[in-house]
Amino acid sequence: MPERFPVTNPATGEVVRHLDLADASDVDAAVGAARAAAPGWASVSPAERGAVLARVATLLDERSEDFAGTETLQCGKPIRLSREFDVPGTVDNAAFFGAAARMLEGKASGEYSPEHTSSIRREPLGVVGSIAPWNYPLNMAGWKVFPALAAGNAVVIKPAEITPLTTIMLAEVFAEAGLPDGVLTVLVGRGPVVGAALAGHPGIDMVSFTGSTAVGRQVAELAASGPRRVHLELGGKAPFVVFDDADLEAAVHGAVAGALINGGQDCTAATRAYVQRPLYERFVEGVADLLGQVRVGDPSDPATDVGSLISATHAERVHGFVTRAVQAGAKAMRGGTAPDGAFYRPTLLVGAAQQSEIVQDEVFGPVLVVLPFDDDDEGIALANDTRFGLAASAWTRDVYRAGRASREIAAGCVWINDHIPIISEMPHGGIKASGYGKDMSMYSLEEYTSVKHVMSEITGKARKDWHRTVFTGDRGEQGNG
Ligand code: NAD
Repeated sequence: MPERFPVTNPATGEVVRHLDLADASDVDAAVGAARAAAPGWASVSPAERGAVLARVATLLDERSEDFAGTETLQCGKPIRLSREFDVPGTVDNAAFFGAAARMLEGKASGEYSPEHTSSIRREPLGVVGSIAPWNYPLNMAGWKVFPALAAGNAVVIKPAEITPLTTIMLAEVFAEAGLPDGVLTVLVGRGPVVGAALAGHPGIDMVSFTGSTAVGRQVAELAASGPRRVHLELGGKAPFVVFDDADLEAAVHGAVAGALINGGQDCTAATRAYVQRPLYERFVEGVADLLGQVRVGDPSDPATDVGSLISATHAERVHGFVTRAVQAGAKAMRGGTAPDGAFYRPTLLVGAAQQSEIVQDEVFGPVLVVLPFDDDDEGIALANDTRFGLAASAWTRDVYRAGRASREIAAGCVWINDHIPIISEMPHGGIKASGYGKDMSMYSLEEYTSVKHVMSEITGKARKDWHRTVFTGDRGEQGNG
């Protein structure tokens, strides 16, 4: 009997829907169906694949209210965020990859040896196994599924079992848009069961994972049994570096928005603000003041700024980080109070040590730590002083400082005078313990393809010059005579 799983609204604790969880045998069946469907989908023209994605964009847009409501229900995120960020972002992403499907190309051909012409074919890999997290379920499913399908692959995706609903709805939209059976399958199951079976499955050609660094490492180990291609979008601990010439009001607003988006459950959220001494006191005051004005409450209320976290257990985990930081000498200038169910008050900490857990580890909650620095060298060195490298921002009005920060901060993305915006045309992905591989953009599309070199002899000579390296001309003549 399959395990019955209750999908719960974290804000109220109410069960939204019960689902039967998949197990390893369902992975075999889904991968088998995907293998059977993959060659047909690969041979569909890019224009037709693009048209399916374009229809998905239109259908998603028509149902945006349903998708936004469901995302908020299963995640506890504010409805304003679901309506204005999660759903329109996914609509745009589907439209982008619909168009990008038609732009995929190999490099122009050329003669790199006197006797041959070379060209590059980009071909789909076959079947992609995708594993997604709970923080932006619809966005993350789109980031994985759209480029993989646009490139001509079949996909089996496992959403987080606690937030599967919008991924299931997305697959329904794909069916309505004309995607052939078997090309996209959603399997709702537990990570160590279904996720692990997918990552290690012999019928999978690539594993595309978004989630924590710890699980990403396990996924890469399982995928090594192929070996098969791995794409890892992992945790982050984004620094937010404020130089002393920055626009203070912009930096304060940017820090609060960057730290609180999605309740701080965002891999690129601003988590560590480093502020040059002349601005430090005023920055802390400004952030504390603005955090005090933030409305925490019912996620379905459009006036709410911060909803619930993903669960009461996760809120306790976040509070554990804050409690240990305070015990180690940090001071809470805002928040820091015990959670109320899954709700956690936005928290501002000062006085933490650079090497402490709260500065080094991913908290994944509405918690911002602010630390001072003296000169530019120190600010950049502190920004780089964690194991992560997903995203960062630098705040300055000096073009040279901005240039230096964008070069020297080790991250997959450096924003200058902003923090968070993402766009379909540009890549998202990390370095260091934040993983490797890119989501979104043409770079992502290319990752779901293999590069094939086609080398054609163009002289028509039966005896090639290079044959001398294998057998001599004499022996060649005997052979022919
Ligand atoms: P998680 O690593 O716990 O889970 C991610 C997915 O992996 C889930 O579907 C889960 O069921 C599955 N999983 C768990 N154990 C597994 C196993 N042994 N084998 C295979 N799959 C397994 O992450 P989470 O808590 O769902 O999400 C939060 C994390 O995701 C944070 O670390 C965050 O930074 C990261 N994240 C990164 C990005 C990015 O683009 N880099 C984007 C969003 C979230």
